[in-house]
Amino acid sequence: MELVTVGSVAFDAIETPFGKSDKIVGGAGTYISIASSFFKKKSGIVSVVGGDFPKDFLAMLDMRGIDQQGLQIKEDEKSFFWSGKYHNDMNTRDTLVTELNVLEKFDPVLPDEYKNPEFLMLGNLAPDVQLKVIEQCERKPQIIAMDTMNFWMDIAMDDLKKVLKKVDVLTINDEEARQLSGEYSLVKAAQKILRMGPEFLVIKKGEHGALLFNNENEVFFAPALPLEEVFDPTGAGDSFAGGFIGHLASTKDISFENMKRAVIVGSAMASFCVEQFGTERLQSVTQEDFDERVREFVNLTQFDISLV
Ligand code: AMP
Repeated sequence: MELVTVGSVAFDAIETPFGKSDKIVGGAGTYISIASSFFKKKSGIVSVVGGDFPKDFLAMLDMRGIDQQGLQIKEDEKSFFWSGKYHNDMNTRDTLVTELNVLEKFDPVLPDEYKNPEFLMLGNLAPDVQLKVIEQCERKPQIIAMDTMNFWMDIAMDDLKKVLKKVDVLTINDEEARQLSGEYSLVKAAQKILRMGPEFLVIKKGEHGALLFNNENEVFFAPALPLEEVFDPTGAGDSFAGGFIGHLASTKDISFENMKRAVIVGSAMASFCVEQFGTERLQSVTQEDFDERVREFVNLTQFDISLV
């Protein structure tokens, strides 16, 4: 496999200042897989769902080339459910409900075909599950990237620190970076986090863009595209991660220069994600949409200046 993704495949219910969704399909693994499938690499997902999960959604993932040998279906159990409510700025949210259901006892098993992934993306899931996946790899993948959230910092910080020692890239948001490091300054937070294991760190700042740090004191910043309307920010962070790892898997170049491009590609995928509820917009992104969006990022950040 060129890319193996681990992450929740779930139901979400979302409230924004503009409306409420019914129970819709979400999950970190879902957003990452759909965003990265844009690059048409050989990819598979490791996760678990209940018997209540819609089979037509799985068929859609299959059509996008996302292999599901690593996806367990527990017919008699319920899928993971998460509900969140966005504040007026659409940049911050409260979690209203987290029902782990099938995730509570999830024991990931890597099919033989997944045991030597070139790229491994550990999406938001219990850190002990992320660790079990790393341990089943027969060789160290070129890049292990990991995403996580405050929920796991609150209840499983020790396990989280163990995983951090084994990953190359960590992507988290600004609040989580502060919680993980105990530092308010994001630069100080990055320095501390990079000492915990990863060589690269991406700090996502929602509508304020994303910062990429490495452990040689280099920094890169990508803005978020100023969009007229943000419909539903859920999954933006995961779509970012999917675009980021998808770009790396498709170029197979893990230099800092190429990671900068991956941050732009991730930001482009996140900008599509927020335009509609759930995964809808991500599913309809065409090559022209993508090229145009990346061009907008280039235009947004390019300027000429003469310095004496
Ligand atoms: P994001 O908006 O990118 O941070 O990701 C939102 C997605 O994360 C939603 O689709 C949820 O289903 C999923 N999610 C929320 N909480 C958790 C959790 N504790 N573990 C795994 N996935 C979660």
